[in-house]
Amino acid sequence: MAADLEAEVQAIDKSLLECSAEEIAVKWLQANDLQKEVYQHLAYYVPKIYCRGPNPAPQREDMLAQHVLLGPMEWYLCGEDPAFGFPKLEQANKPSHLCGRVFKVGEPTYSCRDCAVDPTCVLCMECFLGSIHREHRYRMTTSGGGGFCDCGDTEAWKEGPYCQKHELNSSETAEEEDPLVHLPEDMVARAYNIFAITFKYAVDILTWEKENELPGLEMPEKSDTYYCMLFNDEVHTYEQVIYTLQKAVNCTQKEAIGFATTVDRDGRRSVRYGDFQYCDQAKSVIVRNTSRQTKPLKVQVMHSSIVAHQSFGLKLLTWLGSVIGYSDGLRRILCQVGLQEGPDGENSSLVDKLMLYDSKLWKGARNVYHQLFMSSLLMDLKYKKLFAIRFARNYERLQSDFMKDDHDREFSIADLSIQIFTVPSLARMLITEENLMTTIIKTFMDHLRHRDIQGRFQFERYTALQAFKFRRVQSLILDLKYVLISKPTEWSDDLRHKFLEGFDAFLELLKCMQGMDPITRQVGQHIEMEPEWEAAFTLQMKLTLVISMMQDWCALDEKVLIEAYKKCLMVLMQCHSGFTDGEQPIVLSMCGHSVETIRYCVSQEKVSIHLPVSRLLAGLHVLLSKTEVAYKFPELLPLSELSPPMLIEHPLRCLVLCAQVHAGMWRRNGFSLVNQIYYYHNVKCRREMFDKDIVMLQTGVSMMDPNHFLMIMLSRFELYQIFSTPDYGKRFSTENTNKDVVQQNNTLIEEMLYLIIMIIGERFSPGIGQVNATDEIKREIIHQLSIRPMAHSELVKALPEDENRETGMESVIEEVACFKKPGLTGRGLYELKPECARNFNLYFYHFSRAEQSKAEEAQRKLKRQNREDTALPPPALPPFCPLFASLVNILQSDVMLCIMGTILQWAVEHNGYAWSESMLQRVLHLIGMALQEEKQHLENLSEENVVTFTFTQKISKPGEAPSNSPSILAMLETLQNAPHLEVHKDMIRWILKTFNTIKKLRESSSTSPVAETEGNIMEESTRDKDKAERKRKAEIARLRREKIMAQMSEMQRHFINENKELFQQTLEELDTSTSGVHETRCPVISDAKLTALGPEQTRVAEHRQVVMCILCQEEQEVKVDSRAMVLAAFIQRSTVLSKNRNKIIPDPEKYDPLFMHPDLSCGTHTGSCGHIMHAHCWQRYFDAVQAKEQRRQQRLRVHTSYDVENGEFLCPLCECLSNTVIPLLPPPRVLFNRLDFSGQPNLAQWIKTISQQIKALYLLRDEDDNSANSEKMDQLQLPEGFRPDFKPKNPYSESVKEMLTTFGTATYKVGLKVHPNEEDPRVPIMCWGSCAYTIQTIERILADEDKPLFGHLPCRQDDCLTSLTRFAAAHWTVSSLSAVQGHFCTLSASLVPNEKNGNLPCILDIDMFHLLVSLVLSFPAIHCQDFSGISLGTGDLHLFHLVTMAHIVQILLTSSTEENGMDQENTNSEEEIAVLTLYKFLCQCTGSALKEISSGWHLWRNLKAGIMPFLRCSALFFHYLNGVPAPSELQVNGTNQFEHLCSYLSLPNNLTCLFQENSEILNTLIESWCSNNEVKRYLEGKRHAISYARESNKLIDLPDDYSCLINQASNFSCPKSGGDKSRAPTLCLVCGTMLCSQSYCCQTELEGEDVGACTAHTYTCGSGVGIFLRVRECQVLFLAGKTKGCFYPPPYLDDYGETDQGLRRGNPLHLCKERFKKIQKLWQQHSITEEIGHAQEANQTLVGIDWQHL
Ligand SMILES: [Zn+2]
Ligand SMILES: [Zn+2]
Ligand SMILES: [Zn+2]
Ligand SMILES: [Zn+2]
Ligand SMILES: [Zn+2]
Ligand SMILES: [Zn+2]
Ligand SMILES: [Zn+2]
Repeated sequence: MAADLEAEVQAIDKSLLECSAEEIAVKWLQANDLQKEVYQHLAYYVPKIYCRGPNPAPQREDMLAQHVLLGPMEWYLCGEDPAFGFPKLEQANKPSHLCGRVFKVGEPTYSCRDCAVDPTCVLCMECFLGSIHREHRYRMTTSGGGGFCDCGDTEAWKEGPYCQKHELNSSETAEEEDPLVHLPEDMVARAYNIFAITFKYAVDILTWEKENELPGLEMPEKSDTYYCMLFNDEVHTYEQVIYTLQKAVNCTQKEAIGFATTVDRDGRRSVRYGDFQYCDQAKSVIVRNTSRQTKPLKVQVMHSSIVAHQSFGLKLLTWLGSVIGYSDGLRRILCQVGLQEGPDGENSSLVDKLMLYDSKLWKGARNVYHQLFMSSLLMDLKYKKLFAIRFARNYERLQSDFMKDDHDREFSIADLSIQIFTVPSLARMLITEENLMTTIIKTFMDHLRHRDIQGRFQFERYTALQAFKFRRVQSLILDLKYVLISKPTEWSDDLRHKFLEGFDAFLELLKCMQGMDPITRQVGQHIEMEPEWEAAFTLQMKLTLVISMMQDWCALDEKVLIEAYKKCLMVLMQCHSGFTDGEQPIVLSMCGHSVETIRYCVSQEKVSIHLPVSRLLAGLHVLLSKTEVAYKFPELLPLSELSPPMLIEHPLRCLVLCAQVHAGMWRRNGFSLVNQIYYYHNVKCRREMFDKDIVMLQTGVSMMDPNHFLMIMLSRFELYQIFSTPDYGKRFSTENTNKDVVQQNNTLIEEMLYLIIMIIGERFSPGIGQVNATDEIKREIIHQLSIRPMAHSELVKALPEDENRETGMESVIEEVACFKKPGLTGRGLYELKPECARNFNLYFYHFSRAEQSKAEEAQRKLKRQNREDTALPPPALPPFCPLFASLVNILQSDVMLCIMGTILQWAVEHNGYAWSESMLQRVLHLIGMALQEEKQHLENLSEENVVTFTFTQKISKPGEAPSNSPSILAMLETLQNAPHLEVHKDMIRWILKTFNTIKKLRESSSTSPVAETEGNIMEESTRDKDKAERKRKAEIARLRREKIMAQMSEMQRHFINENKELFQQTLEELDTSTSGVHETRCPVISDAKLTALGPEQTRVAEHRQVVMCILCQEEQEVKVDSRAMVLAAFIQRSTVLSKNRNKIIPDPEKYDPLFMHPDLSCGTHTGSCGHIMHAHCWQRYFDAVQAKEQRRQQRLRVHTSYDVENGEFLCPLCECLSNTVIPLLPPPRVLFNRLDFSGQPNLAQWIKTISQQIKALYLLRDEDDNSANSEKMDQLQLPEGFRPDFKPKNPYSESVKEMLTTFGTATYKVGLKVHPNEEDPRVPIMCWGSCAYTIQTIERILADEDKPLFGHLPCRQDDCLTSLTRFAAAHWTVSSLSAVQGHFCTLSASLVPNEKNGNLPCILDIDMFHLLVSLVLSFPAIHCQDFSGISLGTGDLHLFHLVTMAHIVQILLTSSTEENGMDQENTNSEEEIAVLTLYKFLCQCTGSALKEISSGWHLWRNLKAGIMPFLRCSALFFHYLNGVPAPSELQVNGTNQFEHLCSYLSLPNNLTCLFQENSEILNTLIESWCSNNEVKRYLEGKRHAISYARESNKLIDLPDDYSCLINQASNFSCPKSGGDKSRAPTLCLVCGTMLCSQSYCCQTELEGEDVGACTAHTYTCGSGVGIFLRVRECQVLFLAGKTKGCFYPPPYLDDYGETDQGLRRGNPLHLCKERFKKIQKLWQQHSITEEIGHAQEANQTLVGIDWQHL
């Protein structure tokens, strides 16, 4: 069947391909009724091309459509072959100076903070790089898709609207030129025809709703196939859809995932193809399966020809988009066609039709036509305007459609508002001509119909659907914001009129919010259910910017401001017309003043936090003052209508509510209220909530008698009784007063005083005080930095942002703060400049309580450090604007003085009174403010003014009868010496001093002696300061020392987490000095020449090594026969040195690791934190951990950062991840070495002896295998002194032996990833391998860092290498002797061939250092049976020389010397001649296949460079093996390192001498090496080989500018799902591969589990360990295995020294090389896993993440 279908399809294709586009076009050109002709053509061919089977075949369809359908259209359009026509068009075109590039998902976009009109104006990367803005303050974001580049739009940029590329085009283009003049007339006509027909066809078919009929097209002869089409919705999850599909259409999971992915991306996908019934059946199953809880998935059975035409309709729209790209004229014609009104009048144009059908279209179709709109209507300035009008007229309908639709806004046509409304000229035009503001607001109100009886919004008891709608309707506020974002520079009467109409609508909206969500205090029982509060706050929060912008608009025009003020006042009066209703009037009187008010208690009646109308009025009132309208046109303002008590009433209630909540009176109202109070003060809301309430109080009070205000306030705080009744305070002393009530009242008094401080002191908004906008922001910053130094982003978060997302901070920060650059960790910080501290106000109104106390503490500390008194007096304040000037009189009003007096009185007679220190502190602050005020009044005194502020006089007067209380001043003097007020003494002293200053100021007029004395004091204090500074520094140093000491001695578990940084720092500092703690190293034998190995080896005196167990704190000596001491260690597989990342071990069970390939593709690394334990202590500890873990897993099923089942544990001291322990051993060679006899054999003799021994061993083994055959036994003549029957005695204690086995098995298990088997003969190989590999990694690190070979390793690494090498040397004693002997024989056979071992790797394929280590460490197994007198040292030396020579040959064979280019010194030294001779010999041996080289200089240079790493590794190895101290020359970087190395290693400086000395045997060996087949193949260029020196592996190079990476990632598409954009593109920093992380498409199976692309990649690239950069998140990801991972700060910093994880702030990011090096070092040191372990221990949530899915 399938084959038939295929054949049929092919046949059709063939016939289709025979169509001629030209012929068809000619027919069309002659046609009378073109539409009919074209439609017939389409009706016939479209179903033949599209939808021929169950699955779409896009490539075939595209090809045929282009040929049969689009081709003729193009011919027709051009009137000639489009291959010539289009280029001509393009050439004739005066291209647009607009860029208009439509953004892909994830593409970087740039906005200029200096020049963009609003933050929505963005540039594409190309334009940005060619613009002036790259030198400005810019922001970078990643696009969410949609939207286009605004380059060339003069309305979008204040400056530099063109990039270099688009500027060229703009210079010639005359504005407003009709692009049609560039087109020939006949072409205009043809374009018009064909566009009209095709556009209409596409629109008709896409909006077609009938099932068995086509618009104006004949149905093809009944083929009657159908599709079951599944549509996307946002309700069902991926999993639900996949599950349902598997059931409904019987497909595999993989197919279902494919369907679901396409549905999600394109919006629809056919899931079944066949006859109607077949499809309908699937439909009903899907509907049935998904309708249980939610509405069912949308499925439709569609006739295949409809689907076919729809597919082509979309293709046509795309085609139109590309055709108009050739010419602006064509673009204009298309726009014209699209907007032309159809026969049905209003809304009948094609564009209207599409827009209005938008919510019914599927995602893919929407995308296509939105893109077409963007590239046509929005790119043509004339039609953009016309389109904007259509959009505005349809606005209401489009929004309603969007409300009903369930797709995200980015898929809705409604989202185009951002492209239209943000264009200032369009926005202005739409406001005046289409009344857009009012439309938006009314539409918004229409969708929020749920109201209470007073007509206010009610969000309580919202259904899920309403809540969903509410979320969607919020986008309208965004539209309103766009419309308002650019403010008018000129006002026409029309604009005024329409703005005010919009303002009216806006006031209606605010009116519905005024007093919403009222609350009543709950007494008795706790509330049963937390009331809904978030919706109201969301609304407020979203509106905040709009409210601010409305005010900004009003401020720009006096007429508008006056009208708006009137309107706002009227609405407020409507809201509170009956504010005295039902509330009884009462009269309050105090201190001879009385006022009438109402009886109202916040604690008993309803109160609301939402008062937007009052707050808007407050804002406008400040504007009246700021713009001076209030003084210029007082007659136009309704000032006389204002009723100050009415104005302040509701804001005051709100503030009292906050005070009462703070006093604990509203506890039973639950958390919702606490949250509301929090947001009320929060930086996101406060500008239009809390701040404006303070302003409203200031406004009201400035028009009132302060005494009246204070009495009303006392009454609202429910404190009137206390202060109006004499001796009220005393009543609290009686036994039976309720403590809670006392406490409550105290808090309320404190809060009230705080409020008074704010009303008088908060004058930093322009219009209230005589300040400008920068003063306000400066003050905010000063107070934030008074708490502590802060990073840029922290400051930004603490400051309110305007509609352009700006805080204004950058312009002033330099004046108030100094920037401190970040180090390797942490971030850059701003510190307050010392001179700004005097502006600190303890009662700054934006401090939270916690911030206030932190700031107080910090400032007092600072003062103490500067040796100043610790008083924090109120700062001097700027004067009020005239409209608010009377506020200062509160301070000297009778009621205020009475309140102050009363509280001071309580403090004086402190026993038995209910008062608090905070209360007193606030009173002192208020007195201080009054004194500052008076002082300034006096200082700014001009002739004509009389000072009316006489606070000092008033406080000097004692109270009148009957109380006869002492004066405030007298009480202060008393309190100055009160012992219980020690803390406030400095402040009281400051007050008294200032009082005296003022007194003197009043007495004398101008020059005052007071100032002089102050000057003296100042001088003195600077001297003191210096002294104090020195003392302070000494103190800090001492504390630091103590801290370090404490940490060194304190051996406790958790301190690394708490003091991580300090710990590391300390370790580094102390590393070199404490090395002697564990081990007394032998004194350096300085004068003698030091030799590391061989018979000449320098003898080292034995020394005792005493170590302490971290678990039991007992000391013990390291000895062969005592209990074992062990180091915590971590073994891991590693590819850090790999030169071939694709290589993996194919079958670990069978793999033979004996020879390491020189590509070092997979090594085994051992690391240690260096902490020592008794083996038995560790065993007990580990058992306990294991038991605990098992219990925990059963109980909680939580994961830990370590995998106990895999033997992992954390070092008990430093919590470093470990998976085994290494035993500590004394130098092992001493044990096996026997006495030296003189006359050691030379190399040739030695090789002969060893070969004989090997031969004997082979014979013996054969005999073992085949005992019957005794003939051979007879042949066997044992070499002299060789006793193969000798079994050496193991010198180690049981405990040490056990640990040797433990570590060996662990290395084997991890290194090969197999089950542990201590009997496996490969165990010793893995141990030697790990020793060799670890030494190689450390040698690389030292070389990369340019550090000397010896003396610069951290203690832990030094200890680790010592024990690892000694361990590896001792391990053979616990393995099978014959196995180790066998290994030695095979290893040596690779260099000295014997007949037994064929088929060994050639010398090109052996890593010589691994070979050396294995040979040297397996040799004792042979040597122990050799009693001929050859010393172990001799063997070592010969083995070393032999391997070195093999390595030299290896290097020479692979050296890729280029002779030319390098300047060559013609020295012809001995070395050069020798190496040239050797090279010539090699040429001979290889049959002249080797490239001819005549320069000995080059060869020698190459050889030296190539062999250096090997020599360095060997030096480390023999140093740790034999314990010979390193010569001092190798402990510093100096010249002649090569010579010193050779000397230490007992090598001649001229390495080739080795060959000459041993030429008899070497010549044969070299010949045998060179005759190897693989070597030949290499020399013939048939295979590759590693050459030397191998370069160090580095992490990939990263670009300096982060946006390059974003761009790279945006061009990356998922490799598996054919061109889809990857959601989480992730870059492997090891190899540079980009991966599609965290998504279904790229999940693969690994060891039976589904894993994400990253985890899968780590298995090949990093042996399970991976380092990635998540590009969209700007975050480094560390992975280890499937369960371990953590995020790590990226190496990219912004100019403020901060990272931007998540790319939320968008500041430009640049590579910080030092931080990247640090990451690289972590990798090279194999510390990634350890880092993850520490991160997971510190943050448990990291443990729960499914790392394997990344
Ligand atoms: Zn651009
Ligand atoms: Zn540009
Ligand atoms: Zn700029
Ligand atoms: Zn112990
Ligand atoms: Zn440790
Ligand atoms: Zn993918
Ligand atoms: Zn990689």
